[in-house]
Amino acid sequence: MRKEITLQVNDNYIKQLRQGYPLIHKEAVKPIRALPEEGAVVRLVDSNNRFLARGYYGEQNKGIGWVLTYHESEQIDSKLFQTKIFTAINKRQGFFQSEDTNAFRVFNGEGDGVGGLTIDYFAGYYLINWYSQGIYSFKNDVLQALDVLGNYHAIYEKKRFHTKGKYLEDDDFVKGERGEFPIIVKENGIHFAVYLNDGAMTGIFLDQRDVRKVIRDTYAKGKDVLNTFSYTGAFSVAAALGGAEQTTSVDLAKRSKPRTIEQFSVNGIDFDQHKIVIMDVFDYFKYARRKQLQYDLVIVDPPSFARSKKRTFSAAKDYPALLTDVISITRNHGIIVASTNNASFGMKKFKGFIKQACQKMHVTYKILQQFQLPSDFQTNEQFIQSDYLKVCIIQIQQNK
Ligand code: SAH
Repeated sequence: MRKEITLQVNDNYIKQLRQGYPLIHKEAVKPIRALPEEGAVVRLVDSNNRFLARGYYGEQNKGIGWVLTYHESEQIDSKLFQTKIFTAINKRQGFFQSEDTNAFRVFNGEGDGVGGLTIDYFAGYYLINWYSQGIYSFKNDVLQALDVLGNYHAIYEKKRFHTKGKYLEDDDFVKGERGEFPIIVKENGIHFAVYLNDGAMTGIFLDQRDVRKVIRDTYAKGKDVLNTFSYTGAFSVAAALGGAEQTTSVDLAKRSKPRTIEQFSVNGIDFDQHKIVIMDVFDYFKYARRKQLQYDLVIVDPPSFARSKKRTFSAAKDYPALLTDVISITRNHGIIVASTNNASFGMKKFKGFIKQACQKMHVTYKILQQFQLPSDFQTNEQFIQSDYLKVCIIQIQQNK
């Protein structure tokens, strides 16, 4: 049996907890004398010792754990994990049965009832992300649930927490038949090369699926496309398949070039017809202005924070300035796909950034479409941070 410790919730947190807010903040509970072990079961009570919820202890960013149940009779055991994972998988039946998509999120943390845990599916392979030592201690329960379902080639994992002591260099393999990487997955008929054995990045961000599709189907045809912060060039591939005249992918990471070539190649596209530039995006903007390069479609999807030799970029602070650069190299009537995964601000503020940048550049604009997380990235309504993705497709018009 796991150790269960009782924590008393401060009065000012009780209401939101009762409403379903899943994260246990350090300040939400009375100070603890000895820190519980990672993975300990925590029983949350009010000042009259009345049961509120039960969860697990696991340090992750600002939290010390996650609520898993509001039922006093429900224990934190394999049955609970099995129920949550089966429920999540049932919700994704449409994806499992899809003919043209076989890469998607099966379990999305607190959105599916277990904060700190995500599970992705890549053409028969499961990839588990563990965000704390605490949730990692439930590994057997999670594996058991996946084993009951069976029918997979292999399970891989990423430990996204600090491992104390020596960290055994491994290839993240857990069980099954080792894959030969890259494996090729399908997404709305687009192919992507994916690595599950090569560090934190797999080669594709599954949450942008709908955006890639709309770029291919609606915005790319005949266009000269610039994809900034291009990573493995997934948006460029979508644009090329949608009939773009040419794509230019810009990223400062050197591995970006072979990985982008690979993504074009697995789709039968001649990568020589496209440009792949290894450069700081901010330098590229200057270069493009100097050369008077203009694009019909510019995709901008920066990381929330980035530090390069020359500067640090923070989306919450620097997004408007980034957009002014983008506008400066976008043709009149051109389209900008502006995206951010920064959880610290919402869509309203993001649209404010767009307005600010357009005013500064004296252009008028129309937001043609907007996207948030796709349906497999289930979110928890009480925990708005989990709804992090914001994408606006904007058309700009220069005022003559
Ligand atoms: N848009 C991509 C994902 C971007 S991930 C996609 O949908 O697949 C963020 C990328 O930004 C990383 O590949 C990182 O190398 C790159 N990056 C970070 N700072 C940069 C900078 N200043 N200039 C160019 N690339 C940068």
